[in-house]
Amino acid sequence: MTMTAAPALGTVHLLPQTRQLRALHTIIRDRHVAREQFVAASGRIIRQLMETALDLLPYEPWDVPTPVGRTYPGLRHASAICGVPVVRAGESMEPELRAIMPGVPIGKILIQRDKVTKLPRLYYSALPADIDRRQVLLMDPMLATGGTALAAIEVLLGRGVEVDDMVFVTLLAAPEGIAAVHARHPGLRIVTSAVEERLNENAYMVPGIGDFGDRYFGTDITR
Ligand code: URA
Repeated sequence: MTMTAAPALGTVHLLPQTRQLRALHTIIRDRHVAREQFVAASGRIIRQLMETALDLLPYEPWDVPTPVGRTYPGLRHASAICGVPVVRAGESMEPELRAIMPGVPIGKILIQRDKVTKLPRLYYSALPADIDRRQVLLMDPMLATGGTALAAIEVLLGRGVEVDDMVFVTLLAAPEGIAAVHARHPGLRIVTSAVEERLNENAYMVPGIGDFGDRYFGTDITR
């Protein structure tokens, strides 16, 4: 008998939809907004995503003495961490993780859609040698069809990282992308600030944001 794995529940962690978050989304979704504002507002959202993702990782008790002679029963991360942005758009998320954890190792994965086969193809990866002993934050601000995410997850699996030790951090997620990723990896945790309505015929999310990488890095400027 063939058993189909039931999708695990609770693997999409949507940021609380506060008025402040909606105001930031109002900036980044406005097609007329200046690039400085786009970069600043998306950075503030990404910082919240990173803090939420870090909260999903294992912690262990760690007591510290306070200046007034008491013990604070604290916590610290129980295992080493690594950030892995998917080049290029994922690199927009790197500064926010580095600001929180300045010494964190950062890997890179470059995947692009092959013009002929239309399938995602791995062009380059550079990952810490001990990545299989780390908790990995896989970063790509756009989870659209899920093709790139699945290819990046395969790269990490090939290096011995378990799905349970990965968190996929993304600014916007399409239902189609979430479904595609969870169909293969039901337990993968996804942290996002918005779940969009759907993909359009060009695989852009709607209501969406347009091409995130172009808008963040300023390569959409027409002469
Ligand atoms: N990539 C983007 O930059 N935007 C989308 O809407 C989908 C994929």
